Formats: sequence, C-alpha cells, structure tokens
Amino acid sequence: MPARRHVDIAPQSGGSVRLFTGETVRVIDLEGQQVADLWAFVVDGGIVDWLSVSQTRDITERLFPTVGESFYSEQAVVLLTLVEDNSPCPHDMLFPACNHRLYDRAGYPNHPNCRNNLLTELRSARIDVPIVPDPVNLFQRSEPQADGRLEVLASDNPPGGNVLLRADKDFLLVVTACSVDYHPTNGDRCTGIRLEISPGSQ
Ligand SMILES: [Zn+2]
Repeated sequence: MPARRHVDIAPQSGGSVRLFTGETVRVIDLEGQQVADLWAFVVDGGIVDWLSVSQTRDITERLFPTVGESFYSEQAVVLLTLVEDNSPCPHDMLFPACNHRLYDRAGYPNHPNCRNNLLTELRSARIDVPIVPDPVNLFQRSEPQADGRLEVLASDNPPGGNVLLRADKDFLLVVTACSVDYHPTNGDRCTGIRLEISPGSQ
C-alpha cells in the first residue's frame, strides 16, 4: 500500500501535487490564520479543465463549501469533495487570487502573489490554461454583509486547522500560501501550509 506523503509550502509561495482518483489531501494551516488558495487542473487528451468556483456556486447553490458537497469543473464535472472541515472559517469562493495589480494599487510593487505562484506551478507542469481561474480560498473570512459590503477579515483559523478533500478525478492540485502581509487577511503575518496526501480506501 502506498505510504502517506506530504508537501510543505513555504510562506508566500506555491506547491503542487498530482492526485489520483480516491486519494485524499489534508490541507493544514500549521500556524493558524493562513489562507490557502486552491486550484485543480485536469488534462485529458490535450484538453484542460479546471476547478470553477462559479460552476460550484451554481451547482451547489451555495456561496461557501460545506462538508459532503463537491467542487465542480468548468465542464461541470465533479473534481473533489469536502470530506472534513476542521476549521471555524468559511472558505471563500468569491475573491480572485491576490495578484501584482492588487499589490501595485496598495503601494507594494514586485510583491509575491498567489497568481504568479500559481502560474509558476503550471509552467513547471507544462499546463497551459486560457484564463487564470479564481481559487477556493481556504480559511479566508470574507462573508458578504447585509449592506452588500464584501470585506476580508482576519482569518480565525487556529494552528493546525485543516480540511480534508477527496479527489474524484485525476488532476494537478495547486495550493498557494497567500502572500497578503499588509492587510489582516492572514493575521498580519504569512506562514506555511502543509498538504498531506493519503491513498484511497479501495
Ligand atoms: Zn494570495
């Protein structure tokens, strides 16, 4: 039986791993309050499909994922399912990845960012995508307010807070440890994320 393996993602960087159907991945916020952006990319016969938060919101009729429900691809295929949620946070499906234009606007040019960290992982995997999909922002507190505001609050995920996801297809999983350090999103400091991959039960 294959052993459990893990990938450690350094602060303000990204990592990726190929997951096979039935495997599970636990995304662990080691030190707490750290948002982890998550994407999945399927390459099948030269065609690329990817996790789509808009398809997921539409099909599940939810703004935030909940245990037992799945994340869907651009082609409306089930890619992975949320098996456990050991975090008090909602998991954002509304915001794009942080990107250099966000940091430019905030006065921090040349800042590390999740978009570039994603693109680095995709280049390494030789995957071309026609757009940069929006991620699932695990552990990110950005609940819509009654007056329409959509602000990002400091994550209240405790050290070790985690989610467990099951792969329902073979795909490349990409996760970034969010780079925001000028706003309370990540509790005012950027820390690392661990992925623990376990074999499927069959
Ligand atoms: Zn980010």
